[in-house]
Formats: sequence, C-alpha cells, structure tokens
Amino acid sequence: MVRPKTEEEIALMRENAILVSKTLAEVGKAVAPGVTTLELNRLAETFIRDNGAIPSFLGYEGFPAALCISVNDVVVHGFPSGYVLKEGDIVSVDCGTLYKGYNGDSAYTFPVGEVDAETRKLLDVTKESLYKGIEKAVDGNRIGDIGHAVQSYAESFGFSVVRELEGHGIGKHMHENPGVPNYGKMGSGPRLIDGMTICIEPMINAGTRNVYLAKNGWEVHTADHRKSAHFELTVVVRKGAPEVLSTFDYIEKSGVEF
Ligand code: MG
Ligand code: MG
Repeated sequence: MVRPKTEEEIALMRENAILVSKTLAEVGKAVAPGVTTLELNRLAETFIRDNGAIPSFLGYEGFPAALCISVNDVVVHGFPSGYVLKEGDIVSVDCGTLYKGYNGDSAYTFPVGEVDAETRKLLDVTKESLYKGIEKAVDGNRIGDIGHAVQSYAESFGFSVVRELEGHGIGKHMHENPGVPNYGKMGSGPRLIDGMTICIEPMINAGTRNVYLAKNGWEVHTADHRKSAHFELTVVVRKGAPEVLSTFDYIEKSGVEF
C-alpha cells in the first residue's frame, strides 16, 4: 500500500524539486558543441552541493556520477565521460538530489545546437507526452491512465515507448511504489490518491521500442541506434488537478533557446 505524503513532507519535496529544476537549467546553459559530458556533470555536482543538497545518483547502486547523461541512442543511465558534444546531438540530463531527507528527480533532453526536423519532433512530442501523462495524475484515476495518455500521444506521431523502464513513486527513497509505466490501459493499475508523489518520465524512441543494456551494466541503448528522448517531472497527485513540483521554466526562460 502506498502512503500519501503529508503536507510537511510535500513542502520539503517542493523545495528540493526547485533545486533539481534549477540544476537542470544550469546544465542547459552549458550544453554546446565542444563541451564534454563530464564537464556538465562537474558543474551540476558543484551547484547541488553549493545549495546544501547531495547528488543522490552518485554511488546509487554503484552509479559513478551525479548526473545520468545519455546522448543520442542512449535512452537513460549514461555515464558522464570525455565524449565531446557535437552539433545535432541530443543529450538527456537526469538529475537527482537528496535534501532534508527527501529526494528530487527530474530530466530534460537538450538539443546541441541545431538538430534535424525529426529529432526536433521527437523532443517536442516526448515533452508533450509527459504533460499528457501529468494531466491524469488526479485522485481517483489509476496508474494505467497515465501510461495510456503518454503512449497514445507518442505513438500517434509514429514514435515508440520504451517498456523496460518506468517512472516511480518518490520520497525518502528515490524509487518508491508505485511503478509508473509509460504505456498501459485506461482504468488499470493502482489507484492514485491525493498526496502521492510520483515521477513521470517518458522515454520515447524515434525507431524501435526495443533496447539493450550496455556491457557496463547501466547504459540503455536503442536496439536500432536511432535517437531516444527522456523528460521527467515530479508530481503530487491531487483532487481535481495535479500539482507539479519540478518545472522546466528555469530551462525555458534561461534565455537559451531549446
Ligand atoms: Mg530521473
Ligand atoms: Mg526518475
């Protein structure tokens, strides 16, 4: 049984979600051709610590960095590295922070310079599919309503939904119940209750939905090596309309065009 959060807990998570959102915006300002993903990671780790929080991904089940940075055909869980970003790449940046005992978790996929029209469409549709899912995070709905909304939107553009990975509840632990798949049937799955905190995070592929795990045991790649996009926000299930804790406003109002 999933315990809804108290308003005190949600207040702490709200603060944390803002920090995650600002961290992603700091990273976004630095995304450019010629920059390594390791540089993005360092910048984020410094920003998180300077704001009194801990990068929760670092050391999580042995993960080696503060951010998951996943370029092009890497769906999620990419390792920051010496890879130099180049014009036309897309880079998913997934950020987690631990602050006053609670977790924050959000992700954004940035274009590097100019991207081709299909890639631009993949980014726009994936982000919009997240908002379609969020609309369903309402007391009385079910988890499957979220997945159905994400899936039906993304697939209507000919894109595909990764099945092997999903969103999740969040709180004192980064990954709590329930799982939040990005596909599903309306009216199926656990019931959503006012005060539940969940991360919705569509991972949408340009080509096949099939993926494989790299030899390092972390990085998930598309099977056909076409691009994949990933956007994530933390949401509180509420009566009537959801409350979205994290935001892309800091990214999209930073003056950098994404
Ligand atoms: Mg995440
Ligand atoms: Mg997550």
